[in-house]
Amino acid sequence: MSKSHLFYQSDTSRPVLAEARGIYMWDVDGRRYIDGSSGAMVSNIGHSNPNVLEAMRRQMEKSTFGYRLHFETEPGEHLAAKVASLTPEGMEKVFFVSGGSEAVESAIKLARQYAVTVGQRSRWKVISRAPSYHGSTLGALALTGYDPLTRPFEPMMQAMPKVPAPRAYLDGLDIDDPATGAHYAAMLEAKILEEGPESVLAFIHEPVGGASTGALVPPAGYMQAVREICDRHGVLLIHDEVMSGGGRTGLFLGADHWGVAPDIIAISKGFGAGYAPLGAMIAHDRLVDPVLKGGGFMHGHTYAGNPLACAAGLAVLEEIEAGAMMDNAARVGQRLKSRLGDLMQRYSFIGDVRGKGLLLAFEFVSDRRTMAPLPKALNAYHHFVEMAYAEGLIVYSRRTRNGLEGDHILVCPPMITTDEQVEEILEMLTRALDRFEA
Ligand code: PMP
Repeated sequence: MSKSHLFYQSDTSRPVLAEARGIYMWDVDGRRYIDGSSGAMVSNIGHSNPNVLEAMRRQMEKSTFGYRLHFETEPGEHLAAKVASLTPEGMEKVFFVSGGSEAVESAIKLARQYAVTVGQRSRWKVISRAPSYHGSTLGALALTGYDPLTRPFEPMMQAMPKVPAPRAYLDGLDIDDPATGAHYAAMLEAKILEEGPESVLAFIHEPVGGASTGALVPPAGYMQAVREICDRHGVLLIHDEVMSGGGRTGLFLGADHWGVAPDIIAISKGFGAGYAPLGAMIAHDRLVDPVLKGGGFMHGHTYAGNPLACAAGLAVLEEIEAGAMMDNAARVGQRLKSRLGDLMQRYSFIGDVRGKGLLLAFEFVSDRRTMAPLPKALNAYHHFVEMAYAEGLIVYSRRTRNGLEGDHILVCPPMITTDEQVEEILEMLTRALDRFEA
């Protein structure tokens, strides 16, 4: 191919994608890859699902765009109803967007407009966790606790207060002990008190962590305690389910594992599942109604809710249901997690295996006892991905400790992955780990 004019994050060149089907992808030279990370935890139902393509084709022949302030659309109405049926009681209002950052921005702006509408203009701070990732736009970035992504832009437009993510495995605490959950939740309460509750608008976190923490599962009691603390101080609770939502963890929302309902939810990624840029902010009627009565929500994105994206999203949810894909994610995820556990027995530099359903990760350490990371200069998170790539397996990695050091590898194949394909992934991972060890 001639010189590329495209640019993204770095100048590393990548093979040119030719085709993708199911969990497999091929480049223009005919080389096959397993999509072991569903892109960036996006292609949840696999590539080229014929029923989704057919639904999109049918919609394209009818209309591809209707501006949301001019028209309601049938796919939009149906998708919103379907989403509302999958979210906690009372969270009936769905606001479509085109991606995860937009969903998070919309959540913050709705929270803020709600506070202003009910006479709480002093509440504007949104507490988040570190490490965390909530998006690339400046508002979402202000909530992000991941130093390499925020440092180039400092001073941030408005950096927001952070509390530690509940990483029990690093702090030597028992994840199954409710005292551990209470311990981390107490840090949130202390932060709210330190900032002054009257100034705190919301707390945002990922129920099951994604890229920044590597599939972090909260300790027992944490989710419930956070909800109680937010209620006690009049702080809204926002769940960023951009990565954990959509079924990958085995239930539609990550927070469903703990039965905790927030005030606002942001979803994207697996919602459009790679078929269309799609996301949504889902809010409790209690927040949306006063804002709408008070003159309307002063926020929106041009392509939001376009009928083609909504038709794709609806077909994705129908396919998930028809194929019992959430159950498959739970079952196959359990198998993959236990096989990753076996790898941990074999390779001493794997210090932790964690996650839920098919949102799974393992973390490299130099010493399991202290959980000290591998030396930063090894750039393990980067090199391991290249080694897996050389084996034909795509995985996703980040630095665990606020982006500065530590290495975790996310293994998150599509929800349609079979038991045999788990073995195929394991063989490739093992070869990559052997190379890495050498
Ligand atoms: N929140 C979380 C938890 C995410 O994982 C991401 C994307 N990695 C985003 C927000 C931002 O989504 P997008 O890249 O679609 O803007």
